[in-house]
Amino acid sequence: MKSVSTYCKAVFAGVVLTCLVSISVHAKTVKVTISGGSEKIEAFDRDGITYFSLSEFAEIVGGLLDWEMVGHRISYVLDTSRFDFVIGSPYFKLNEQAYNITFPVELRDGQLYLPTETFISYLDQVFPQKIIWDNDKTTIRVDSEYFNVTDLSISAKANGLLIEIFLTSALAYEVFVTEGNWVNVSIRDGKLNSARILSRRNRRYMYDLKAHQVDGAGQVSIRLKRKVENWHHKLQYDPPRIQISIVDEGFEIDTADTPAIIGPDDKIDVIVIDPGHGGKDSGAVGRGGKREKDAVLAISKRLAKLIRKDKQFKVIMTRDRDETVTLEQRAKIANEAGADLFISIHANSSVRRSVRGWNVFYLAPARNDSARAVAQFENSAFLRDKEASPSEDTNYEGDDLFADPVLSILNEMIMTEFQAESHDFAKMVDREFRRSLKTPARGVDMAGFFVLNSVFAPSVLIEAGFISNKSEEKLLKGKKYQQQVAEGIYRAIKRFKAKYEQ
Ligand SMILES: [Zn+2]
Repeated sequence: MKSVSTYCKAVFAGVVLTCLVSISVHAKTVKVTISGGSEKIEAFDRDGITYFSLSEFAEIVGGLLDWEMVGHRISYVLDTSRFDFVIGSPYFKLNEQAYNITFPVELRDGQLYLPTETFISYLDQVFPQKIIWDNDKTTIRVDSEYFNVTDLSISAKANGLLIEIFLTSALAYEVFVTEGNWVNVSIRDGKLNSARILSRRNRRYMYDLKAHQVDGAGQVSIRLKRKVENWHHKLQYDPPRIQISIVDEGFEIDTADTPAIIGPDDKIDVIVIDPGHGGKDSGAVGRGGKREKDAVLAISKRLAKLIRKDKQFKVIMTRDRDETVTLEQRAKIANEAGADLFISIHANSSVRRSVRGWNVFYLAPARNDSARAVAQFENSAFLRDKEASPSEDTNYEGDDLFADPVLSILNEMIMTEFQAESHDFAKMVDREFRRSLKTPARGVDMAGFFVLNSVFAPSVLIEAGFISNKSEEKLLKGKKYQQQVAEGIYRAIKRFKAKYEQ
C-alpha cells in the first residue's frame, strides 16, 4: 500500500473538471406503459445516458420512498424488497447486498433520478411484473403478464443438494437428467421469471443455469458440479414448489414420500490462504529491505501449518513459494477449490514512517481515502497485467483507469453475495488480534479489492502491519509476531466455523 499522492489527486481533480465542462444535460420525459395506459415521468439525458425519476415512477407503480437527508440516503421499499441509495454514488444496496449501476444516482428538484439502462434489471428482479427498458422509444414497459414460476433456490445439505423451484400454484412438471449432470425441469404452462431465476446462479454448486420458454412450457436447466446419479423429486405445497434432491453417494433415499435431503447446511472446511504478491511483484519494501512478499508468505505458511494440524479443515495456498501469481489466478484457485473462506495476507506501507498497526478489510466500496489507497495499491498488480496486454477486452482503460482504478474495476462486477459473512469474519479476526497483538489496532474497514471481488466465498484481506515502519518491519521479519498473527487468524477461523456451520 502507499498513500495517494497530492499529484494524483491533482490529476484526478483535473479530470473531473474537464468532464464537468463537457457534460451536457437535456431535460426530457420517459414514457411508462402499464396495463390500461401510459404516463409520462420526468427524465433527463446526460452524455447519452437517460436518467428517470424514481420518485415519479413509484407514484405510478407503487412502493415507498424514504428520505434520510442527513446521510444523503434514500430508500425505496417495495413489498419485501428494499433498495438503499446514496446520493452521488453509483453503489446501492438491494436487500442488504451491494451493487453498482456505473453512474451515480442524483437528486434534482427534490426527486431521485437513476440511470435507466443499468438500473432497470434490478427493478425487474424484485417486481411482480416484468419491467423492460426500451431505449429507442424511451419507454419503460411494465408488463402485466404475470409469472407463475417465480424463483429458484439451491442449497447444500448434509447428504446432498436441494433444489427448489417456486410456483404461484401447483403445476404439472417433469424432471429429467441429461449427460453432463444437467438437471432439467419442464413445467407445463410455466411462465418463468427468468431474471429472478437466473440471478440465483451460484458458482459453488453449478457450472451453468438456463431458463427458457419452450412450447408452452417453462424449462429450467441446471448443470451441477456434482454427479447426478441418485435423485428424487416431489411437489410441495405451502408455498407451492418443486423440490429436487440430489443425494450424495453412500446415502440412501429415505422414502418416496419425503424429500430425501434433510440435515445441516454446508460444511466450512476448505480454507484458502492467499499470501499477497510474490515473484516479480515484491509488494511494499521496508527501509531495512524486508519485502512484503516474503513476510506474508512466512505468516501464511505458519497459518497453513496450524490449520493442517486441525483435521477438520483442508488448506489450499494460492502460492507456497516466491512466485508470480496474478490476482485472477488467485481467485481461480480459490473458486476451483470450492473455498469456504478466503484469506489474503499482506503488509501495509505508508510514506509516513511513523504510521503503524494492522487492518482487516472486507470487500465493499471504499469508505474513505485511506482504505481506497490500500485497495489501489493491492489492485495494482492486476492493473499492470491489463496494461501489459492491451488486446484483452476490458472496459476499464484510458482515463477512467487513471482517474480511479478501484472504482473502474468494480464497475465491471457486482459485489459478492458474501458481504455480511465477510464482514463478520473480519470482525472475528479483529477481535482476536486485539487480544493477542501488541501493535496498534486500525480495525475493520471495507474497500474494493479485485482479488476478493472474484472469489465466491466470504473473504478478507489482512494488512498485518506496516513494513514501512521501522519497529513493525522488525516484527514482521520475526517468527514471534508472524506466529501471533497466524494464531489470531486461526482462532477466528474456528469461531467462524462454529457460527456458520450448523
Ligand atoms: Zn500487499
